Amino acid sequence: MSDAADPATGTDEHGFATRAIHAGQDPDPRTGAVNVPIFASSTFAQDGVGQMREGYEYARTANPTRTALEACLASLEGGRHGRAFASGMAATDTALRSMLRPGDHLVIPDDAYGGTFRLIDKVFSQWGVDHTPVSVNDVDAVRAAIEPRTKVVWVETPTNPLLNIADIEALAQVAHDAGTRLVVDNTFASPYLQQPLALGADVVLHSTTKYLGGHSDVVGGALVTDDPALDEAFAFLQNGAGAVPGPFDAYLTMRGAKTLALRMEQHSTNAEAIVDALQGHPAISHVLYPGLTEHPGHQVAARQMRRFGGMISVRLAGGRDAALAFCDRTEIFTLAESLGGIESLIEHPAAMTHASTAGSALEVPDDLVRLSVGIETTADLVADVEQALS
Ligand SMILES: *Cc1c(COP(=O)(O)O)cnc(C)c1O
Repeated sequence: MSDAADPATGTDEHGFATRAIHAGQDPDPRTGAVNVPIFASSTFAQDGVGQMREGYEYARTANPTRTALEACLASLEGGRHGRAFASGMAATDTALRSMLRPGDHLVIPDDAYGGTFRLIDKVFSQWGVDHTPVSVNDVDAVRAAIEPRTKVVWVETPTNPLLNIADIEALAQVAHDAGTRLVVDNTFASPYLQQPLALGADVVLHSTTKYLGGHSDVVGGALVTDDPALDEAFAFLQNGAGAVPGPFDAYLTMRGAKTLALRMEQHSTNAEAIVDALQGHPAISHVLYPGLTEHPGHQVAARQMRRFGGMISVRLAGGRDAALAFCDRTEIFTLAESLGGIESLIEHPAAMTHASTAGSALEVPDDLVRLSVGIETTADLVADVEQALS
């Protein structure tokens, strides 16, 4: 593989923001361009048969822009190996197919991301892979759900959309004691707020569409691990099945990641101000935010997260109709799926992102509204939420 994969100016001695800007992203050796070029090339000239210049041959296997992104993502998660994919679901599919075979079983959160649940429930079940949904905030429940055939414990933390907190360190212990592996979907926290590998996780997954890209302009996914055999399996399917991001997508994701530290600070600050305004509001029956001391996962979140992030869910005292009206009335918060961008978004999970969970164990309450708090002016966001509820 290319020397470009060596994060020379973003080594582990450097701080997070430095690595976000420099890891894998040395100035272009030929021109000095400070940004990694968008290598819009599907193939690479060979100096003789099988003699590649920098290890590049065909862009499904590797592309220098993608290599730079992969080195950056690995560095941000404190991991040795990073792989970038065309979407978070492509990364999820690759992780599952690398780690599970027919007859195997996995444990998943009972409020998993709807797309993750759909893939496991509708596709993997057809190939003889079984799953058990549990509350991943309950370590004993996870331990009890592990069977001899369990190969993977899959968690999100905070979970989407209920913002439950899984204790990564405790679950890594439980998984390893049982001879299984722990995968953490770190999309909601981002590597700035939480680094699961350091807490014992075997694999970290991202939908880079969300906070890492951060500008709602690109879809992507990533897998990071310290385990060379797992990374090899991921690389095999990345090339073998081909769900790769193009070089422009890799560039956009890398460009977004450069400001991740600043953005996550502001997302967290804005979310805290909105949580303050929503707490005790007569229209709201529950505020779900791990930064609240009364949140059942607060202690664990405070231990494993730098701050509490930009996602808030609320339940409306007036039920489903009040939830739909809240979604309709915001002016700065845009009614849309997705999350993690600079702009604030609002959505109704039961009818939108989590519609696929209807009638299942993962069904979400219909009085629930999810806010992805952006980085607009704090007071404007608070005023928007207040007017929408009045
Ligand atoms: C969006 C999301 C995914 C899926 O990622 P895509 O990029 O949309 O394919 C997976 N997990 C979580 C927690 C997500 O929010």
